[in-house]
Amino acid sequence: MQLVEVTIDSLAEVGYVGTTLAEIARRAGVSPGLVAHYFGDKDALLAAAFRTLARSLAARMRARLALAHTPRARVQAVIDTNLAPEEFDRRSGTAWLAFWGQVLHVEGLKRVQTAYQRRMLSNLRSDLRQMLPAAEARSLAAMIAAMIDGVYLRAALSEWRESDSASARALLTAFVDARLKDLGPLLLPVPPAGGGSRVQRTQLRVINPATGATLAELPVDGAAQVDAAATRAQKAQRAWAALGGAERGRILQRAARLLRERNDELARLETLNTGKPISETRTVDVLSGAECLEYYAGLAAGIAGEHLNLGPAAFGYTRREPLGVVAGIGAWNYPLQIACWKSAPALACGNAMIFKPAELTPLTALKLEEVYREAGLPEGLFQVVQGEAQTGALLTRHPLIRKVSVTGSVGTGKAVMADAAASLKQVTLELGGKSPLIVFEDAKIENAVAGALLANFYSAGEVCSNGTRVFVHRSIRAEFVARLRERTAAMRIGDPLDPATQVGALISEEHMEKVLGFIARGRAQGARLLTGGTRVTSGALAQGFFVAPAIFDHCDDDMDIVRQEIFGPVLSVLEFTQEEEVIARANATEFGLAAGVFTNDLTRAHRVIARLEAGTCWINHYNVTPVELPFGGVKMSGLGRENGRAAIEHYTLLKSVYVAMGDVDAPY
Ligand code: NDP
Repeated sequence: MQLVEVTIDSLAEVGYVGTTLAEIARRAGVSPGLVAHYFGDKDALLAAAFRTLARSLAARMRARLALAHTPRARVQAVIDTNLAPEEFDRRSGTAWLAFWGQVLHVEGLKRVQTAYQRRMLSNLRSDLRQMLPAAEARSLAAMIAAMIDGVYLRAALSEWRESDSASARALLTAFVDARLKDLGPLLLPVPPAGGGSRVQRTQLRVINPATGATLAELPVDGAAQVDAAATRAQKAQRAWAALGGAERGRILQRAARLLRERNDELARLETLNTGKPISETRTVDVLSGAECLEYYAGLAAGIAGEHLNLGPAAFGYTRREPLGVVAGIGAWNYPLQIACWKSAPALACGNAMIFKPAELTPLTALKLEEVYREAGLPEGLFQVVQGEAQTGALLTRHPLIRKVSVTGSVGTGKAVMADAAASLKQVTLELGGKSPLIVFEDAKIENAVAGALLANFYSAGEVCSNGTRVFVHRSIRAEFVARLRERTAAMRIGDPLDPATQVGALISEEHMEKVLGFIARGRAQGARLLTGGTRVTSGALAQGFFVAPAIFDHCDDDMDIVRQEIFGPVLSVLEFTQEEEVIARANATEFGLAAGVFTNDLTRAHRVIARLEAGTCWINHYNVTPVELPFGGVKMSGLGRENGRAAIEHYTLLKSVYVAMGDVDAPY
């Protein structure tokens, strides 16, 4: 560590050329042999020093980001960390520049620099995405990164006379504020009280990610449409709530039957819009939606409060009453299923729901609207509005809407919760994950391998609960990995409409690039890619966004592929030896959506599961989600639960009633 500090001093004072092993040794007061013993050569020493600088900057960045509570504050945190007084001074600045000068020539430096840049850009992009459409967010993120580099270079060229940390930060801050102001009309609009629209009504172009072909163009709904939908819903909801539960249940039953009857047609549409193989959508997506409707149809008549005995002269009871108008906002990975998981309990409890599907996958929610209508659901009780985040925000901020349930990324969850606070709406947040799957040495290997495949490659890996961190006991790792690789390499990638296809397309080109970027980082950071991980472009697949399922071995807990949600077909194998150790490592994440354990030791299975910080767990299986079991996350993976009886609590209010049966005695 001391040698690294001395190296940074030396770079600042005598530059790259003057920083030799002999110079470091002289400054540190040790023999050149000792420096060579620890680091080998100058390049390795400089790479170690560069890594130290980048790591401490990344740690400071994480600390600042954790304290920032809005997307704009998080963007500022990136700027402030990079240009903090302790970075933006002659010593650190000159060292950074010395490294940059060598990045193109020294592979070790290049890797550190690329990893740091990618992380910074991805932080910036995801926060700007909360404020701007994707293309603008990407371009502003790149501008901010370029300006940070620019102010460093100018400061260095002026020998740190022209600018200091405060003025550099002020420059960047003014630039970002000005850009955000210029892009003002694109920002999320605050709906003016009493309606009216500041949102331009534009079109959503819906594509087939397997071919790039346009499937549909839909108008985007703005404040006027959301307002009208909320008013319609409020009117319809009163009569709906006044119906008996059994009657509401009958309509849900009919809708479930229609979904089953139309399974093939709906599965085909879902496949066209999501790129998922028809073998999945025909057996999972529509049918799990129908099951959910059937389940809540059955519960509807039994939604009840409780009776409480309060002694001879009184009793109490509670009523479970609907909330009123509620909103559902869906992600793009299970469009129809998500719409069913949200609307079925909401309607069973007597609410009206306005649902916004993800902008990329708006089609099957419209079909569900049709199905409900055909099943006899009165108009206004399930309405679909279309649009991007702006339309979602209009729902979240609408005063008539009492609750919002969103399935999406952590950033979206935070934005929704912050928006919902203004009108104190209830929220259910189904967010992202980076879940662990632990395979103990006594597990049946073939089952565990099957579990790992189910945990990673359904829907081309675009599943929130995926167990992407596969911890395998050292004693069985080799055997497990060999079998996993074999079965993964044999998966059939192809046209999603072909019933034999097992791996379809990713949702969009942008998402595919993100997934491929993670794979490149995995390799750069030293993980070993055993199979897959490349874009598939054979024949007609070249038009779509296909990535071969990837297995990384020799991963460590700090790699980006192990820490961040990829939401693509990328599995990381991690080795462990001790139960205590693996529990700690499995829990060392901000997420807490799901977890799985494979073992034949029953006691251990329950002991370990009890200690895993996750909302949804499996023992000796993975990713099965029967509607009877509540589903949801803890920590940054979300709040509230979907499915099971638990969802009833999230779509009803509890009213307490005290009933006196004697005279009233007042002290006045
Ligand atoms: P996003 O968070 O990008 O979007 C989710 C939905 O929220 C979309 O409809 C989106 O609109 C909308 N939205 C975005 N910003 C706002 C806002 N500020 N206010 C209101 N609505 C907003 O997620 P993705 O669609 O990209 O889905 C992937 C993510 O979803 C992953 O992180 C995944 O883990 C998570 N997920 C979680 C599940 C769970 O049950 N826990 C299940 C499935 C996915 P737009 O259409 O414009 O994007």
